[in-house]
This record gives sequence, C-alpha cells and structure tokens, in this order.
Amino acid sequence: MAIIISGKETSAAIRAELKKEVEILKDKQGLTPGLAVVIVGSDPASKIYVRNKHRACEEVGMLSRVYEMPEETTEEELLSLVDTLNADPEIHGILVQLPLPKHLDEKKVIYRIDPKKDVDVFHPYNVGLLSIGNYTLSPCTPAGCMELLKRYNIEVSGKECVVLGRSNIVGKPISMLLLQANGTVTTCHSRTKDLKDVCRRADILVAAIGKPKFVGADMVKEGACVIDVGINRLPDGKICGDVDYDAVIDKVSAITPVPGGVGPMTITMLLKNTLLAAKEEL
Ligand code: NDP
Repeated sequence: MAIIISGKETSAAIRAELKKEVEILKDKQGLTPGLAVVIVGSDPASKIYVRNKHRACEEVGMLSRVYEMPEETTEEELLSLVDTLNADPEIHGILVQLPLPKHLDEKKVIYRIDPKKDVDVFHPYNVGLLSIGNYTLSPCTPAGCMELLKRYNIEVSGKECVVLGRSNIVGKPISMLLLQANGTVTTCHSRTKDLKDVCRRADILVAAIGKPKFVGADMVKEGACVIDVGINRLPDGKICGDVDYDAVIDKVSAITPVPGGVGPMTITMLLKNTLLAAKEEL
C-alpha cells in the first residue's frame, strides 16, 4: 500500500508550529514578522493567490500588507515602491506577484528587492547562495517538496533522484536541494533522450513539467517515491498533476496527490521564509 503524502495535513501542522514561533518572537523580542505582497493589475488568478497569502499570514499572526497597483503602473513607480519596502523596518519579506503586465521588466523588479527580504528566493544573489549550499531562505515550492520528504521520513541521501523539468522556479532549485541532501540527481527536460528509462531509474521522482498525467506506470520504478508538483486544469475543470496517479498508485511506495500534495506547501514555506527573514534581524 502506497503512503499518500498529505501536503494538506503537513502544511496545517507546520502552520501551527509557525504560529507558536511567531507568538514567542512577539512576546520575547517584540518582533512581528511582516510580509508585503505587491500585485499589479487585475489578473483574477493572481488576486486569489494574493488573498490566500494575506489570509495565511494573518492566521499565523504575521503582519501582512497588500499593495494593489493599477495595470498602468510605470516601472519607476513599482521600483520606487520596492525601494520603500526595502527600507521599511516592519517588512521582512517582499513578494511581487508574477506575472507582471507586459510593459514591466520582471527581472529588473525582482533584482531590486533586497535579497534579505526576497522570500520568493528569485534574486540571483539568493540563487547563488542556494547553489553553494549556504542559504537561509529556500525557494517555496521546492522547499515544500523537501519538507514533505523529511516529514514522511523518506531518505534522500544516496538515492537516485530524477527531476522532470528545469524551470528556475521548480526544476532547477529542487535539483539543487536534492543534491544538497546528498541525492544523486538527474534533471530532465524537453530535450532529454530516453526519458522513460531515466525516470525508471529514480528512487525519488519529482515531476514538474506542466503536462497532465504525463508520467505513467511505464516511467516509474517499483517502490519509487513520486512527488508531483504539476497543477493542471482538465477540460472538465478538475485539477490534476503531471503524474497519472491512478496508473502508478499500485507501483509506488509513496506519492503526493494533486490537489492536496505539494500545492498547499508553497504558501506555508513562504510564511516560514518570512519568519526566517525576520529572525535574521535579531
Ligand atoms: P515551466 O513551463 O516553466 O517548465 C516546464 C519544464 O518542463 C521545462 O523545463 C520543460 O523543458 C520541461 N518539459 C516540458 N515538456 C516536457 C516533456 N515532454 N518532457 C520532458 N520535459 C518537459 O513550468 P514550471 O516549472 O513553472 O511548472 C511546472 C508545473 O508545476 C506546472 O504544472 C505548474 O503549474 C506547477 N507548479 C506548481 C506549484 C505549486 O505550488 N505546487 C508552483 C509552481 C509550479 P524545457 O526547459 O526543455 O522547455
């Protein structure tokens, strides 16, 4: 019987721990961790993400400020807000919700965030720290995957880890974190040859390609642990992962479902990063 790795339960447990830590920090040090989320324009999906982040922050007792800027905001205005937040002592984490409207240069905006407050861990300085293994903040979704492995006692050290996908947000950083945890890591992408054979080598298979049910039983080793990062919407409106859950469930030893697996962990890790960034102030 495969272990179903619940991100929902794990996330709730971590948030309860964070809430306690925030209380202690407030009582003993007089410090309230603060997150600023900046959203430009009115993309409905982005608005929902921002609302969820705001609620999550308040639930654990952190300060949450949301800055809603109109679609026609200029780069100068946005950079100026980032500068203000960089200098704001109440704010320990800054997140600019992506994607930004086309006329704004995402790189320029992200690179302007003070790396100490870069709780999304997109700034090249933090990506560099991650690659040399000297980091405090780790990127939210990949950190969520690692936390799930840890809390379900799935050993990474010495294991064959295959990551499907090489994006800067998921594939590359999760590869770095698995390597840091002493896994033997192979990162695959659209040009990888013999993809099925490579995936079948994996003790731990991480799927992050954005293709519904792409990973079937023929790509999974007997007894593998499968972490499904994918979030895909099917024509009937249902959400599914990059892994064909029903096809692999009898073959794997552990798997994250979609929804309820990696998804709920991302915001939780954002809260954790905000707390860590605040503690760096002490
Ligand atoms: P990207 O589109 O940025 O990257 C997809 C990666 O998959 C690329 O590296 C691409 O290769 C690779 N790829 C695409 N098709 C194939 C294929 N047929 N065979 C092998 N590799 C392939 O996606 P993201 O990393 O941003 O997201 C991946 C998935 O994770 C999405 O479903 C997304 O919704 C989900 N996601 C979930 C999050 C969560 O909170 N749980 C957070 C972020 C993302 P190449 O580089 O060669 O083009």
